[in-house]
Parts: sequence; structure tokens; C-alpha cells
Amino acid sequence: MKKYRVGPKDKIKLKEWDANETSEFSGDKTAGKERLLKLNQDLEELQEMLYAEGKHKVLVVLQGMDTSGKDGSIRHVFEGVNPQGVRVASFKVPTPEELAHDYLWRIHKEMPGNGEIVIFNRSHYEDVLVVRVHNLVPKEVWKKRYAQINAFERLLAEEGTTILKFFLYIDLDEQKLRLTERLEDKTKQWKFSVGDLGERKLWTAYTKAYEDVLNRTSTPWAPWYIVPANRKWYRNLVIGEALVDTLKGLNMSYPAPKDDLTNVLVE
Ligand code: AMP
Ligand code: MG
Repeated sequence: MKKYRVGPKDKIKLKEWDANETSEFSGDKTAGKERLLKLNQDLEELQEMLYAEGKHKVLVVLQGMDTSGKDGSIRHVFEGVNPQGVRVASFKVPTPEELAHDYLWRIHKEMPGNGEIVIFNRSHYEDVLVVRVHNLVPKEVWKKRYAQINAFERLLAEEGTTILKFFLYIDLDEQKLRLTERLEDKTKQWKFSVGDLGERKLWTAYTKAYEDVLNRTSTPWAPWYIVPANRKWYRNLVIGEALVDTLKGLNMSYPAPKDDLTNVLVE
């Protein structure tokens, strides 16, 4: 899945990317789902070891346009993983208390501790996405944030946090299909927000804002992955593979027993 990892010097133009593609997996959807089951198991084991070892902290950031599948990815990629070892933090419109602080205040509080995996459903990147597109702060303010975010993430990485950031990339046609499905399915209408239609009209502005995020904040210590997300099974696979690969790369092991267990018998 290295193909989807954004290098620090890359100049990403999203119109050159295909949200439909599935080129890093040779099988079909059924085979893809089977592969995901294997990744779920790997992830379960790796999470168990991460917790036991208590040395690393893992942060997974999910960003994407409305309906890009942030919730679905969490549900499917982490299926079978011990709920005690994983926490989800969702970032909504800031509260008055949150707005009274710097934009990283509410973010920092949710960071993983040793042995923990935290998934961000939206994140501090909203502060250079929705905030920029809607002019919620002046340009002089948001334009400084890319460097601030890189420095913040660097601090986290230096203090033992492994960071992976996924941009779930769907195209405008796919969003239309998904919004229409939400509108027509009584069990999905609760997710439909009329406001999303206004956001959809701002697609071009959001695309530009996302390109700047990808081009300015994919660092060696906190890389972005562009996940082709029109096909849900493939989206899950890309995230699952990248995560499992990264966790394997931590070369974790179970800690040695606390006590000397030679000659110990349970009677
Ligand atoms: P949802 O993810 O559908 O529950 O929606 C959450 C909403 O909160 C989205 O419309 C986000 O754009 C919005 N949101 C998240 N963070 C911020 C922020 N820092 N400033 C303004 N709006 C935000
Ligand atoms: Mg929404």
C-alpha cells in the first residue's frame, strides 16, 4: 500500500487520482473481504501485544468528505479487536469552551497513552478544512496552522506516538449516490443532514483545502495515505494493510514475566 503513502515532497493533485481503483489487490470483492478477515485477526493480535508491552501509542486519523466512509472504516477495519484496547474520538463543531482555547487543546486531551490505539473520526485537520473553506478564522490565522500541526505531531512522535493519517477519497458522483441512498433509506435518514448539500456545493474549495493538507502535512513522522474509497471493501483493505504493516514494524514482543516462574506450579 506504499503507493498511497504521500511523500513529504510530493505535489498531489487529486484530479490525477482515481477513487475507483483497486490496483493493489489482485482479487475481487469477495477475496478482498476474506483478506480483511485475516487483517482483522492480525490487528487483534498486534493490539493485544501493544497493550501488553505498554510502550507505544498509536494514533489513526480519518478525514474525508461527507459520506466518504469514516464510520464504516472504523466498524470494519477494527472488527474483532478488543474494545478495551481501542478508543474512538469524534470531533464535531467545537463547543464554546473548546473555541475559547487554541484549536489543539481539545485534540491533545484525546491522544493515546502507552499501549493504546486511538482513532480520530475527524481531527485537528478540520481547522484547516471546514474552518478555511467557511472563513471561520482569517487567512493569516489558518495559514500558520500547517507548520503548527507538523510541529505538534512531531512532538507526539518523539514522545512515542506512531501516527497514521488516512484521507478517504471519494468522487463527486459517488457522494451523490451515497447521499441519495441516505435520503431514500429510512434506516439511514438520521445520518442525512441538509447542511451536507451546502458542503457538497463547496466541493472544489474542499478539494483545494485537502490538497494543501496532503502537500504540507505529510511528514516522515506522520504520513498521509490517500485511500481510494469509492469501493468500500477496498478502502477497508488499504487502511487495514497500512495499519497492520506499521504495527508489525514496531517489532513488539510480549514482556517477560514479572516473577521468576521456574519451578512455579499451579496446584
Ligand atoms: P459529522 O462528522 O457528520 O458528525 O459532522 C461533524 C461536523 O463538525 C462536520 O460538519 C465538521 O465539519 C464539523 N467540525 C468538526 N471540527 C470542526 C471545527 N474545528 N470547526 C468547525 N466545524 C467543525
Ligand atoms: Mg455529517
